[in-house]
Amino acid sequence: MKLPAEDELTLDQSMDFLNQLTEFNGKPPVLIMTGGDVMKKQNLAEIMHHARDLKIPFALSPAVTGLGNEGSFSLVEGSGASSISISLDGKEGFHDYLRGIGVFQKTIRTLRALKESGINIQVNTLVSGNNLTDLPWVLKILLELGIKTWEIFFLIKVGRGMDVEDVTSEQYDAACKFLVYAAGYGINIRTVEGPYFRKLSIDHNNDVSLGNNRLFSELKETAVKLCGHPEHGKDRIPVAKTSDGNGIIFVSHNGRVRPSGFLPLDVGNILDKRLVEVYEKSEILKRMRDRSNITGKCGACQYLEVCGGSRARAYFYRGEVFAEDPVCPLQLNQGESI
Ligand code: SF4
Repeated sequence: MKLPAEDELTLDQSMDFLNQLTEFNGKPPVLIMTGGDVMKKQNLAEIMHHARDLKIPFALSPAVTGLGNEGSFSLVEGSGASSISISLDGKEGFHDYLRGIGVFQKTIRTLRALKESGINIQVNTLVSGNNLTDLPWVLKILLELGIKTWEIFFLIKVGRGMDVEDVTSEQYDAACKFLVYAAGYGINIRTVEGPYFRKLSIDHNNDVSLGNNRLFSELKETAVKLCGHPEHGKDRIPVAKTSDGNGIIFVSHNGRVRPSGFLPLDVGNILDKRLVEVYEKSEILKRMRDRSNITGKCGACQYLEVCGGSRARAYFYRGEVFAEDPVCPLQLNQGESI
């Protein structure tokens, strides 16, 4: 079995990290324990129990490639975890390409077993240029298993993401429109590095047409064939307010703090400073929370406050965290606001 990284937080440091979460004003933030594979974290049971004792709401995001599988989640039952998120990135071909041969079937077995155990489940899906057309198939699996929460991660080319293609603007537009449509099946949808979904959700809530997109039409047709017509297509879609560094903060295995898991900008370390102090006082985080610092078409966009573009994508493509989101399909003519 792979050994923990040499600089991984010790048990004492992990416990102190949990204590630090109680220092935020009001109630502690929601903690998502992820990895690598969080099931390999030493003393995980003790850490979960401490989080529960401190009344920190927490969820786990394990990998089914490692210790996490259909028979190994008894540790989570009764731990106080509010939910468990499992990655399902598409049909068997793409999922196994990304995560290893046989992992798709193992994931489906795991989802079924978790469903039977009564734990709240969230499915996470990475969307790239390679698996966009698999989205209706993932939706079908969610509906069959009665899973109500779907979090979509739009690829930022870090780590394993380097092996797959980023979405084009047309694909990004189609995927986000499809997610608005998919919400009509009664699924609670969230996006990571896909804030344009919020712009479209607001349009949907205001009865504004989503507009044409050939790929979107194809995705919709496939969904109808697989899942029937959505029954909640007119329902309002809740619009999230958090963004990288604003209601979201990432703490790595060694305590390094970043605005999000996809934005490699170090803003501090919990071993040197309390997390609340880093979060509230970091100059870069303060500037990120002030949307007027964002430039280009995002800076001129009427959806700046609610969307603001992906800061991680801007940083990856432009090397500048306040640049416009280069994949957004909205166009800005000179001198206009969008
Ligand atoms: S231009 Fe920027 S802020 Fe406007 S919708 Fe696109 S990504 Fe969002």
